[in-house]
Amino acid sequence: MARKIGSRYTAHQVIGRGSAGTVWLGEGPEGPVAIKLLREDLASDQVLVGRFVQERTALTSLDHPRVVGVHDLVVDGDDLALVMELVHGADLRSRLEREGPLAPQAAVSIAADVAEGLSAAHAAGIVHRDVKPENILLDQASSPGAGGAPRAKLSDFGIARLVDAPRRTRATRIIGTPDYLAPEVIEGLEPRAAVDIYALATVLYELLAGFTPFGGGHTGAVLRRHVTEAVAPLPGLPEDLWKVIAQCLAKAPASRLRAAELATRLREQLPSLTGLPSLDVAHPAVPPAALDYQPEEDDEFEQRSVSRRHGPAVPLVPGAPPDSTRDTHTSLRRPSAEELASFAAASRAEHDGSRSGRSARERTGGGGHRPGGAGRGGAGRAVRRRRLLVAALLTVLVGAGAVGAYEATASGDGGQSPGSSVSTPPSPSASGPSADGLLPLAPPTA
Ligand code: ADP
Ligand code: MG
Repeated sequence: MARKIGSRYTAHQVIGRGSAGTVWLGEGPEGPVAIKLLREDLASDQVLVGRFVQERTALTSLDHPRVVGVHDLVVDGDDLALVMELVHGADLRSRLEREGPLAPQAAVSIAADVAEGLSAAHAAGIVHRDVKPENILLDQASSPGAGGAPRAKLSDFGIARLVDAPRRTRATRIIGTPDYLAPEVIEGLEPRAAVDIYALATVLYELLAGFTPFGGGHTGAVLRRHVTEAVAPLPGLPEDLWKVIAQCLAKAPASRLRAAELATRLREQLPSLTGLPSLDVAHPAVPPAALDYQPEEDDEFEQRSVSRRHGPAVPLVPGAPPDSTRDTHTSLRRPSAEELASFAAASRAEHDGSRSGRSARERTGGGGHRPGGAGRGGAGRAVRRRRLLVAALLTVLVGAGAVGAYEATASGDGGQSPGSSVSTPPSPSASGPSADGLLPLAPPTA
């Protein structure tokens, strides 16, 4: 049924659902549009509405063929709606789920499109902050790009930052989707353009391999991998292309390419990728340690994390029911020192588990293949597991000091060359837990 949105638009039918609301096929004075109606609890948040209105110009001024244009912003009674360019085609997540990894030429063509969109946004001072396959729309109405790949458009610019209400995110929360989060965001630094480059390189890796480089299992483990682990080359991928990806996955933001340069470098690769079939990368197995772990009911952080991979989307607002079955935008509580220490213990168990498994499997990650929610341990097992974690935590505390150890490993590589082992220079700022037990990391500027 049709629904009036403000005085100028009519919403006809739902064409998509996301974590922030429902997307409708609509009609405006200039023809068909897509209308994103924000969830009721978001639309009734006065702070949020104020921010949308404040940022109206920034949101609507980005005009680039590789960006889904925002035409208008409507605040009408209880409705808060974004009126967007209508894109005819699915999002990249649906395509990945339907068809699996893409041929390298198509994957690189899509990534180059997104890099061009990012380049325009970054030049206008806008950081996306939530680049992921769900936010990349494939435009079937344009003639295809290299290798028959559909042209891609990046959507949801600035939405992550707006929906992330400041009072919820100061100091204790991280916004973004764990698999695509740049290490500096996890460490609490201000997200700059380089976070989008890291996320895009993660997407490109995922398009090629079928899984993300650091995803899978417990969210704490995912965050730790971003900060401490080096990414292993994808077997069968031309070396020049791998170099570009690895450079953009560098731990140090300054080592990554800028968006425009990334677009150029990716387009340069296209001719040499002609006819190359999609990679057949072995799925890294789920380490037994990651499967065993079951959170207890009162453990909000772990509940949300462990159920993340294949369960419903993590709600943006704590307490709000998720409205999508897809893995989308996440607002995470920044882990406490104690939790970080238990991640460290779990991580050791994970490594031990991996080592006792197949021979020297490189830790190339496995977004969809180390599903944290797949384990069915039962309550007794959870308690035993928790005791083990506590014992391990004590060991860590006696050994070197849990926080110090985390700080040392979490401080980035300061320019490490991709693929090499992770170096651990001293932390630039933090020195220990604050009175509330949270690491004194700088708040993300929302
Ligand atoms: P959210 O970011 O709130 O999780 P999305 O913006 O990704 O949700 O919207 C959910 C779905 O709606 C997308 O997967 C896509 O299929 C559809 N959609 C979003 N924006 C558009 C658009 N501009 N044109 C066509 N379809 C869209
Ligand atoms: Mg989206």
